[in-house]
Amino acid sequence: MDKDQKKVIIAIDGPSGAGKGTVAHYLANKFNLKILDTGLLYRVVAKMALQQKLGSDQLEKLIEITRNVTVEDVTQEGLRSEKVAAMASKIAIIPAIRTILNQVQRDFAVSDPGDHLGVILDGRDIGTVIYPDADCKIYLTADQEIRALRRMKQESNVCQLEIHQMMAERDKRDSSRTTAPLNAAKDAYIIDTTHLTIDEACKKAAYYVQNSCLPSAMTV
Ligand code: C5P
Repeated sequence: MDKDQKKVIIAIDGPSGAGKGTVAHYLANKFNLKILDTGLLYRVVAKMALQQKLGSDQLEKLIEITRNVTVEDVTQEGLRSEKVAAMASKIAIIPAIRTILNQVQRDFAVSDPGDHLGVILDGRDIGTVIYPDADCKIYLTADQEIRALRRMKQESNVCQLEIHQMMAERDKRDSSRTTAPLNAAKDAYIIDTTHLTIDEACKKAAYYVQNSCLPSAMTV
């Protein structure tokens, strides 16, 4: 990154299966941004909790695990299952856990981007809590049925009904929790991907990023 250039910070939020990960990776490649999928941080804690057979009420042990989580942990195997996701959303209700992981995310957001133009974080509360001053906030959403169908294609060993039920429970927990519930920031660009192809969703998001925070010399 040029010394005089302002670092760009992009926030992508939305429920599971709305296309956040795909869009965030597209934007990261297109605009040369360092990326963090923040849900993976919660999944790292969840995976370890499941391995150690901890319940979401075993606060002290969960906090101990969370204190050791770093952004490097998100590349490990075994984080993507719906079982881990369900545990992650139970753990994500706990304010003390969120406080620790919030700091990990903010440290990443303000870290030196090196050769990158900036950073992009995707999650549930990036634009509302983690980095409300982000240069561009995008909220992706889609009908629950479509999102469940998309997840089912990724997890072939679970039936659609089961995925749908788990997703409905997770949506409810994520949206109704008292601390940092899933919400679009007031100034977020909302993209409903229900009837969009991946390409259309990515291009729409790129248009918003381009227009809100990138030099006019760069074209989408
Ligand atoms: O995005 P992903 O589905 O991997 O997230 C797993 C769970 O982690 C979510 O259901 C949510 O409960 C929690 N999460 C969160 N805040 C974030 C990212 C994820 O509460 N920024």
